[in-house]
Amino acid sequence: MTVIAFDNTYARQLEGFHVPWKPATAPAPRLLYANEALAAELGLDPALLQGPQAAATWVGNQLPDGAEPIAQAYAGHQFGGFSPQLGDGRALLLGEVIDRQGRRRDIAFKGSGRTPFSRGGDGKAAVGPMLREVLIGEAMHALGIPTTRALAVVATGERVMRELPLPGAVLTRVAASHLRVGTFQFYAARGDLARLRQLADYTLHRHDPALAARPDAPLALLQAVAERQARLIAQWINVGFIHGVMNTDNMALSGETIDYGPCAFMEAYNPAAVFSSIDHGGRYAYANQPHIARWNLARFAETLLPLIAGSEEEAETQRAVEQAMAVIDGFPALYEAALLAGQRAKLGLVAGSGDDAEDRQLAADWLALLQAQAVDFTLGWRRLADAAEGRDDMLQALFTDTAPLQAWLQRWRQRADLPAAADGVVSEATTQRAAAMRRASPFVIPRNHRVEEALTAAMMENDLQPFERLLAALQQPFSETPELQPYGEPAPAAVTAGYQTF
Ligand code: AMP
Ligand code: MG
Ligand code: MG
Repeated sequence: MTVIAFDNTYARQLEGFHVPWKPATAPAPRLLYANEALAAELGLDPALLQGPQAAATWVGNQLPDGAEPIAQAYAGHQFGGFSPQLGDGRALLLGEVIDRQGRRRDIAFKGSGRTPFSRGGDGKAAVGPMLREVLIGEAMHALGIPTTRALAVVATGERVMRELPLPGAVLTRVAASHLRVGTFQFYAARGDLARLRQLADYTLHRHDPALAARPDAPLALLQAVAERQARLIAQWINVGFIHGVMNTDNMALSGETIDYGPCAFMEAYNPAAVFSSIDHGGRYAYANQPHIARWNLARFAETLLPLIAGSEEEAETQRAVEQAMAVIDGFPALYEAALLAGQRAKLGLVAGSGDDAEDRQLAADWLALLQAQAVDFTLGWRRLADAAEGRDDMLQALFTDTAPLQAWLQRWRQRADLPAAADGVVSEATTQRAAAMRRASPFVIPRNHRVEEALTAAMMENDLQPFERLLAALQQPFSETPELQPYGEPAPAAVTAGYQTF
C-alpha cells in the first residue's frame, strides 16, 4: 500500500463545497511521465513513481492511502458569459500534502472520468493535452513563473472520442490550491453568505494567513489576490505567454498559472496575437491579458462585497463598493510596476536608477521595433544581451531594416551606461550585466512547433523521445548550449502563420 501523508483540509473543513467521488477505472494504465524532482519537493516516497504500481496509483485504479477524492464545486465567467455551475467535470482533488518547505499543496487528477459536474462532457482527457500540461508547466516553473505542475501522466489504455478517437490519459496536477475566482462566484450566485464567509476564511488562512485576523480581512484578500495577479500577468507578458482561456474559473487565487489548454508562446512580436481556435473575438489576446485580469478581479470583488461591507446597511454597502473599486482601479498601476521591473531586468537597467516614464518609453519603443519588423520576441530580447557586450550582429540579423534599431540602441546604451558596439574590450561589469540580462530573457521557450512535434510523436507513434528531449531543454531556459540550439530557433514562418491551439 502506498502511503502519502495527506492532510485534507478542503475535504474536512469545507463540507458542502464538494462531492466525494471516485475516479474511473482504467483498463490498461501505462506510466508516460513521472516528475521525480517534484515528488522529492513534496516529500513523497520515490517508490510511488516507480514500478508497475505507479501506473495503477496515478491513473486512479489504486488510490494511495489517505486520499479522499472530491469533485470541487465552482462557477465561472467563460468568455464573459456567466455559468453558475461548472465544477470539476473531469478532475478530482485527492488531497493535500505539506511539502518540504512547509507549503500546503493540492494533489489532483485531471481526466479521471465523469463527476456530478460533468454536464455533457465525458470526464476524460487525451494524452496530447496532458503531456502539453507537463511541458508548459515545467517550462513556466523553470522560467520562475508561479504555476501548477504535473506530477505524473498515465495513459489509460482507453480511447477518448474527440474529432478523432485519441488515446486517453490521466494527469496528476500539483497546485498551491484549486481555489479560483469561480469558487467564490459559485456561492455568491446562490446568495449563500455563510458559505462565502467560510470560503474567504479558508482562503485567507491558506494563502494569506498574516491577513486572516485583520478586521478588514476580505478587502485585504482582494488586495493580495490583485497583487499576485499583477505580478503573474507581468511575468507572462515578459516571456510572451498567452494563456488562451482566462475565464474566471481559470484564475487561481494563489497566483499560480492554472489550466494549460489552448495556451501558446508568441513567436514574432504581435500584441494582438491569439492562438486559441475558440477565441474568435480575441478576448484573450496577448496584450488583453492585464485587462482581463482586472475584469476577473472585479468579478471576484463582487463576490466579496457583502463580506467587505459586514452588514446589509446601505451606507456600509456603499463604502464596500468604494473600497473594492479602489483596489480594482489600483490594479493597472500594480501591473505596470511589475511589468516595468521585469522590463528593466531584460533591458539590463538597474532598478531605481532611472525615470519610470522614460524607461517605459524605452521599452515601448523597443517593442514597437520588434512589432514593426515581426521580430521573434524571445530571440529579440535574448540578442539584446549580446548587444550589451558590444556584439550587435546577431541582433541585427533579426531585423530587415536596421536603421531604426541602430537609433534605439544608441539611446539604450546611453541610458544603460553601456559601451558602444564592437569597441573590442568588454569589462567584467559589462559581462555581468549581460549575464543578468540572460537570466531575465530565456533562450528556450516551448515553441509551438516543438510542442506539436513532441505531442504528435507521443500520441500517434508512441514515441516519447521528442517529448523527453524537449522537456529537458525547457528545464534550462536560460542556457544556450549547442544542444539547445534547435529548441531556440523560431518555427518556419509557414508553420507559425496558421498556428491554432485547442
Ligand atoms: P476549462 O475550460 O478547461 O477550464 O473547463 C471548463 C469546465 O468544463 C470545467 O468545469 C471542466 O471541468 C469542464 N470540462 C472540460 N472538459 C471536460 C470533459 N471532457 N468532461 C467533463 N467536463 C469537462
Ligand atoms: Mg479550467
Ligand atoms: Mg482546461
